[in-house]
Amino acid sequence: MMKAVVIQEHGELDKLRIDKIPEPKYSEDEVVIKIHSAGLNHLDIWVRKGRSNLNLPKPHILGSDAAGIVAAIGSNVRNVTVGDEVIINPGLSCGCCEFCNRGEHSECISFGIVGLSRPGTFAELLAVPSRNVWPKPSHMSFNEAGAFVLAYLTAWRMLMTRAQLKPGQTVLIHGIGGGVALSALQLGKLAGAEVIVTSSSDEKLERAGQIGADHTINYRTVEDVAQKVKDITSGRGVDIVIDTVGAATWPIDFSAVRRGGKIVLCGVTSDAQAVTNLQTLYWNQLTILGSTMGSQEDLRQMLKAVTKAKLKPIIDSAVKLENIKDATERMETGEQFGKIVIEVYR
Ligand SMILES: [Zn+2]
Repeated sequence: MMKAVVIQEHGELDKLRIDKIPEPKYSEDEVVIKIHSAGLNHLDIWVRKGRSNLNLPKPHILGSDAAGIVAAIGSNVRNVTVGDEVIINPGLSCGCCEFCNRGEHSECISFGIVGLSRPGTFAELLAVPSRNVWPKPSHMSFNEAGAFVLAYLTAWRMLMTRAQLKPGQTVLIHGIGGGVALSALQLGKLAGAEVIVTSSSDEKLERAGQIGADHTINYRTVEDVAQKVKDITSGRGVDIVIDTVGAATWPIDFSAVRRGGKIVLCGVTSDAQAVTNLQTLYWNQLTILGSTMGSQEDLRQMLKAVTKAKLKPIIDSAVKLENIKDATERMETGEQFGKIVIEVYR
């Protein structure tokens, strides 16, 4: 038996339980990892609440990011061995559909995510396909390595693969403090971009400035965020908008982006239904790009860049598995600045 954070039914925080459940079985192509640290993501909240009419087998283990040590391997596994320090790519793809064959694994017709489509990482042991297992970057601690892949991979694909960011371009990032937003700030600066960030908290904006944000906007005190962006860019607007918020920021995106600019959306923390001014879209020749996590190639490139620059995720806090409710509440209320780490083993 092993300890895990599970839900027996969907709902609010009180549905989170720490239970003893059977250890995972693994196939000849799978790897069992003894989890050291696991990062908390918004996905964990959505899965718990049961958005999108989820119909998961129960009990379901939450958690998508993790770092740990290989405890066992299936007979076909060649890329890792027992004792290796590893991280996981939470993206699950079939490997044989049209889109996987093109190398676009996050466009897979049966794309899934660890912690959503199969048991997650908030557990002492995790079984995953061997192609989802990658070496842990040696410059990161287990806590850092266990909490960066989903956010960094998502931000990498948005900026580099989808929006094709070039050095010197200007990027607007909404809601600095969230994992993807902060990763986009760090990666944007690494790539030589000028970055504008927004938040409702002066404290978060100050910290964003310390890690490289060139301009900060408090959307609580600035009446017209898009106008402020225009002022900062001498009336031009930004080349790229990184949106992780959705309906609440969508109208600002269209006013703040330059002619011919790009708006990239990877998820919604506000409403998913938004109104688009189609006249602005065509007249200003804008490009709207959806983005979901990343391909194996996105991950390889991201890991190479992050390792070369010795970039580390911003860690908000680290808590024991037993304190997951408090940690989740902190994320749900938007208090965090950076990743919240769940320490499975201490
Ligand atoms: Zn596929």
